[in-house]
Amino acid sequence: MSQKVIIVGAGLTGSLLTIYLARRGFNVEVYERRADMRIVNISAGKSINLALSTRGIHALDQVGLAEEVLKTAVAMKGRMIHSNKGELTFQPYGKNENEYINSISRKDLNVILMNEAEKFPNVQIYFNQRCTGMSLETGEAYFVNETHGGSSVVSGDTVIGTDGSASAIRMEFLRSKHFNFSQSYENYGYKELTIPTAEGGGFRIEKNALHIWPRGSYMMIALPNVEGDFTCTLFMNYENGEYNLNKLVARTDVTQFFQKVMPDALELMPELVDDFFNNPTGSLLTIKCYPWNINGKALLMGDAAHAILPFFGQGMNCGFEDCYYFDKLIEKHGTDWQKIFEEFGKLRKENADAIAELALENFVEMRDLVAHKDFLLKKKADVLLEERYPERFISKYAMVTFHRIPYAIAMKRGQIQDRILMEMCSKIDSIDELNLEEAFDRIKTEFAKAGIEEKLKLEV
Ligand SMILES: Cc1cc2nc3c(=O)[nH]c(=O)nc-3n(C[C@H](O)[C@H](O)[C@H](O)COP(=O)(O)OP(=O)(O)OC[C@H]3O[C@@H](n4cnc5c(N)ncnc54)[C@H](O)[C@@H]3O)c2cc1C
Repeated sequence: MSQKVIIVGAGLTGSLLTIYLARRGFNVEVYERRADMRIVNISAGKSINLALSTRGIHALDQVGLAEEVLKTAVAMKGRMIHSNKGELTFQPYGKNENEYINSISRKDLNVILMNEAEKFPNVQIYFNQRCTGMSLETGEAYFVNETHGGSSVVSGDTVIGTDGSASAIRMEFLRSKHFNFSQSYENYGYKELTIPTAEGGGFRIEKNALHIWPRGSYMMIALPNVEGDFTCTLFMNYENGEYNLNKLVARTDVTQFFQKVMPDALELMPELVDDFFNNPTGSLLTIKCYPWNINGKALLMGDAAHAILPFFGQGMNCGFEDCYYFDKLIEKHGTDWQKIFEEFGKLRKENADAIAELALENFVEMRDLVAHKDFLLKKKADVLLEERYPERFISKYAMVTFHRIPYAIAMKRGQIQDRILMEMCSKIDSIDELNLEEAFDRIKTEFAKAGIEEKLKLEV
């Protein structure tokens, strides 16, 4: 196959996509703005570590990489909730030992993907190449060399923009007619902080959990790294609430805030104040746009097409799933890019919108609900219903995280289930008081009204 595909951005989605395309024999040229992270010590951007789950693992497995990646991961079997008083409560993620998520280093994962991509003789990755735009008429893409400033024009049979939420390729789409675009920032920012490895090695707190300090209008989470440290992320409103980012200006503000609301975390974080002031404040945004392609000349994929909030741990998983479905469409349509791109957009758009909505819902769940009685009872009800009605009831979290059920279906079913169960759980004090048959009957009735089939098609 002599066709040449230009990929802009060698992040997580772009690197995995390169492998899929190289396996099909395409000549792939990848242009990445940053230096080669295998040679130069640079941050891989955004979060230091990420939660990898079933959709992402499946997409990696198709190219034979799941095992290698999972070797570098730490299993997170549930949420460890830290109360104001430092009490700990563990909430398992799944119904059994096999349902867990994996904490992986963004950089290690990106390196594994780039190394694998470069094993193919038909792949070339160019670093320090910042895309400045492209011509949607000719398909040429334009680059500036970030080290010496020279510019270049590159052409191929098609261009795929996997250049993230600030995509330069998407900027070109904005100039074309009939392109819809929205970008919405949350009034929240985030700070990455660290719980270092214990003296003498090992983990200072439970290794196999995603730790959460839920505090209503703000929260902190901590994900384990194989080396024994934890990467913490404090999500907080910029200006509202008793505590907010704008109020944390002096070193003592930060220590006093932690002392008051997360004293157990403060003890674990000797570098807290330096981390807080040295690390940038990240912003949180959702990007929606459509169509994702222009005339078969260019396509957007991953965060470039659908950046979402990080609260369901699905952004990368969704980008990896994009790669898998894209590959299936190449199998079906060969090199008819226009057909592939259009079908890809139709297949993925409603699912990308659904996970964007679910991610927002999960923010409320994580920062607030996880500490409430009704929610804890609902979690128990989820497990009991899953056991009693297999393939007809799966919790929303499990549909998104442990299955590949399209996000749009997971959202429709999950919202109905959660609404009914939360209402029923608000009227009881113990899970033994919940009438499971009644709960399932009510859910079934709502499914029927919404035109949802009772039985789930598990992996489509
Ligand atoms: C705080 C936080 C936590 C997260 N946690 C999770 C999680 O637990 N699980 C999960 O699945 N997802 C998570 N995500 C989402 C995840 O980070 C993204 O969905 C994922 O990185 C998207 O990958 P991408 O390759 O599409 O984009 P990116 O990772 O943004 O990669 C884009 C690449 O393009 C390059 N680039 C950008 N502009 C140009 C240009 N003009 N020219 C050339 N190259 C360019 C960049 O340097 C980069 O290498 C999280 C996000 C955040 C912010």
